[in-house]
Amino acid sequence: MKILLASRNPKKLAELRRILVPALPDVEVLGLDDVEPYDEVPESGATFAENALIKAREGHRHTGLPTVADDSGLTVDALNGMPGVLSARWAGSHGDDEANLRLLLDQLGDVPDERLGAAFVCAVAYVDDAGEILTDGTMLGRIVRQPRGTNGFGYDPIFAPAGYERTSAELSVEEKDAISHRGQSLRALAERLVSRV
Ligand code: IMP
Repeated sequence: MKILLASRNPKKLAELRRILVPALPDVEVLGLDDVEPYDEVPESGATFAENALIKAREGHRHTGLPTVADDSGLTVDALNGMPGVLSARWAGSHGDDEANLRLLLDQLGDVPDERLGAAFVCAVAYVDDAGEILTDGTMLGRIVRQPRGTNGFGYDPIFAPAGYERTSAELSVEEKDAISHRGQSLRALAERLVSRV
């Protein structure tokens, strides 16, 4: 069986593959570069789940393949849950990790430490001819004011998961996958798929 992973973010794609491949050993996981190119729709949904479904439906419609897509982001308590679905383009241009992180730290400059609670959230959608599956995962933690670490991507250097002094950019890939929002949601999907076969 082949599954399409509909994501263009190379670092996120690496995480998705890393988690999904061992969970579904009999499945060949393809990326968007392995299929005929198609026009991707804007992520116009108001929630992570809506955006993940938009991307997974699109991939399935164009390729006929069972398609997995995720939508994820950082929610900060002191910002009423923002940047949320706007995480990738918080500073304006899509995927400028450094600018996004700097803007967020500036916005939190006057916020006291005890209000720096945050979470990474991930929704995963799977679409095939038989229907749709949605799963999600949350990694609680807090924002740290000085970026630390070089692993991961996005806001990882300024996010310390609950119970850790290290940021998620200082965790090994195995440590991050074991607790991450993406790890939780993909493992939940893999369980649903295995029990469906
Ligand atoms: P998406 O491609 O629309 O799902 O954008 C997700 C954005 O959320 C990324 O560009 C990052 O800014 C942020 N994000 C999501 N998951 C993570 C993570 O595991 N670490 C750091 N940043 C993340």
